[in-house]
Amino acid sequence: MKKGIHPQYKDTKFICACGNEFTAQSTLDEVHIEICSKCHPFYSGKQGNKKMTGNVEKFNKKYGIKQEK
Ligand SMILES: [Zn+2]
Repeated sequence: MKKGIHPQYKDTKFICACGNEFTAQSTLDEVHIEICSKCHPFYSGKQGNKKMTGNVEKFNKKYGIKQEK
C-alpha cells in the first residue's frame, strides 16, 4: 500500500440500537447502527427463512417488533 493515500484505520466503536456494542476496524471514531449481528433476524436465527431479497417494508416490520423490547 502506498503511504498517504489511504485513510488510517483504527478501532471503531459500533453502537447498535439494540444496545449491543462492538469494535471493528474503520476510519471513524464511533458509529451508530440500527441493526447488528445480534439483533438481525437473519443472524439471530429467529426468522429461519432464506428469503433475504428486497422488501424493505418487511424488514422494517420485523425490526419494529424487535425494537419494542
Ligand atoms: Zn443490534
